[in-house]
Amino acid sequence: MHAATKRKHEARSPENGLGARLADKALLRRAGYIGGWREGAAQLDVTDPATGALVAQVARLGAAEARAAVDTAQAAFPDWAVALPQHRAAALRRWFELMRAHREDLALIMVAEQGKPLSEARGEIDYAASFLEFYAEEARRPNIESVTSHLPDAEVEIWREPVGVAALVTPWNFPSAMITRKAAAALAAGCTCVVHPAAQTPLSALALAELAHRAGLPEGVFNVVPGEAPEIVGAWMEDTRVRALSFTGSTEIGRLLYRQGADTVKRLVLELGGHAPFIVFDDADLDQAVDEAVKAKFATSGQDCLAANRFYIQRGHYDAFCEKFAARVAALRLGPGMEDPDIGPLMNEAALAKQEAHVADAMALGARCLTGGGRAALGPLFYKPTLLVDVPDTAAIMREETFGPVAAVTPFEHEEEVIARANATEYGLVAYLHTLDPRRIYRATRALQFGMVAVNRTKVTGAPIPFGGMKQSGIGREGARWGLEAFTEIKYVCRDWH
Ligand code: NAP
Repeated sequence: MHAATKRKHEARSPENGLGARLADKALLRRAGYIGGWREGAAQLDVTDPATGALVAQVARLGAAEARAAVDTAQAAFPDWAVALPQHRAAALRRWFELMRAHREDLALIMVAEQGKPLSEARGEIDYAASFLEFYAEEARRPNIESVTSHLPDAEVEIWREPVGVAALVTPWNFPSAMITRKAAAALAAGCTCVVHPAAQTPLSALALAELAHRAGLPEGVFNVVPGEAPEIVGAWMEDTRVRALSFTGSTEIGRLLYRQGADTVKRLVLELGGHAPFIVFDDADLDQAVDEAVKAKFATSGQDCLAANRFYIQRGHYDAFCEKFAARVAALRLGPGMEDPDIGPLMNEAALAKQEAHVADAMALGARCLTGGGRAALGPLFYKPTLLVDVPDTAAIMREETFGPVAAVTPFEHEEEVIARANATEYGLVAYLHTLDPRRIYRATRALQFGMVAVNRTKVTGAPIPFGGMKQSGIGREGARWGLEAFTEIKYVCRDWH
């Protein structure tokens, strides 16, 4: 058998390759899920970013299947919308428990298609599952607000009702969590869902569909349509039955969908790009700031909307921070995700080209490279963890999302100056602040124009908090009770009580 054909054959057969590593081989699904498994005539190649090898071929669906998914979701909506909250809660809870039970298999599937280090993939499965657990509880909350009537002889009520079919469109960097963060809220609210996962990472989405099926979610309530994004999502944007769109991805595609959503006046949640500043004042704990800097930049190999893109260090700490940070960056282990390194491969060649362009541009403008600064020989998609210092604000890396393992450091003198520089961006997702002065914490936190501010720490995410950005980082919030907003309508009822 020809080598390429053999490789494809192996990838199709769950007995070989990734399938052989899974305890539950039925989690490796290749068909779309539209009220049941749906094969496609054409195939989408899913490849391992660490090696380029084919992992699986998945159904490449299009506009016809996108419309079929809405038909199914629309048919399932009336029953799901009026199901008792405890019924919806129990289904979400079973789905959560199944994710927990299959944690290792789900993590292996994610590493195979996304490339992230295995322990990060396990962490993402836990994070993804936590939204199912949280919204299983939230689904039970009483949903009626009482208002004292302002009209004589009238009784007033405000109800929250599910909007209808919700379209969920997700990126490749968090292949599971971005789906459950949306779907759990939508389903808890009583909506039904049609999901388009990123072309590079459909397997994690389809494994979630398999578990949703096992959890007993009724047919048509949760559908996954892999394939041609412009066709599939385009069909949903035109469809008057799709009442909400929740999108996570680039600001560029977010703007396009915002425009497309206007014609049918859809509810929108947009979780878009970020360009996080990481600010260290002279009064900060330097070693803690360096520890947090490594996490804030290099988690998900830098391919994270929350990744710190620009490090502003006050003069007193500048030289020591650069030296300590350089030593830590140089020590990061690069390797295939399955070997659980610190940094895995990037997603595609375009990502590598972006690292190269940002580094070359910064160095041409006078930046110095203390470590890294080029591709690694491990495979075509590996880029060395890199530290640039003395980077001027005019460099592209100080304005554009780098989405990779390159950190850019620059000094500052004064508080007002650094806040102005941090805010001088179209993005407003997250800012990291390091200082031990409580008054400065208060002042700076107030002044930073970001949806999330992390003070003396990096990890801030979780199901009970409102995740989201200001400015062109997006619209709306996910998680917490705010995550239900886009999936619910308010109905005001005024009754004559005579
Ligand atoms: P992307 O290119 O915008 O893709 C995101 C999703 O949109 C994918 O499902 C993609 O499908 C789909 N899509 C692409 N072109 C489309 C079109 N013309 N019409 C409709 N849908 C389309 O983003 P990405 O490269 O996957 O993800 C990286 C970006 O996501 C970064 O900017 C990052 O900051 C952002 N992000 C934000 C958050 C947050 O919560 N704020 C979280 C994670 C990531 P195909 O893959 O099939 O093309």
